[in-house]
Amino acid sequence: MKNKKLTIIKERCPQNHKCPAVKVCPVGALLQEGFSAPIINYDKCIKCGKCSNFCPKMALVLIEEN
Ligand code: SF4
Repeated sequence: MKNKKLTIIKERCPQNHKCPAVKVCPVGALLQEGFSAPIINYDKCIKCGKCSNFCPKMALVLIEEN
């Protein structure tokens, strides 16, 4: 799992609502200011994929890193 990295694709995020994925994260690695796209705390993220599986807009994506 170490070769994966969570990425936010802001173009997919409508940024007009409270991000439901923030509550799904088991380690509190997602932060949202207002209705902005969530910010990822990479020090906390364990790359579990719960948020990326949850976001209906597929704005949170776990990508493979080279
Ligand atoms: S991948 Fe898991 S740990 Fe990382 S931000 Fe998403 S829900 Fe939180």
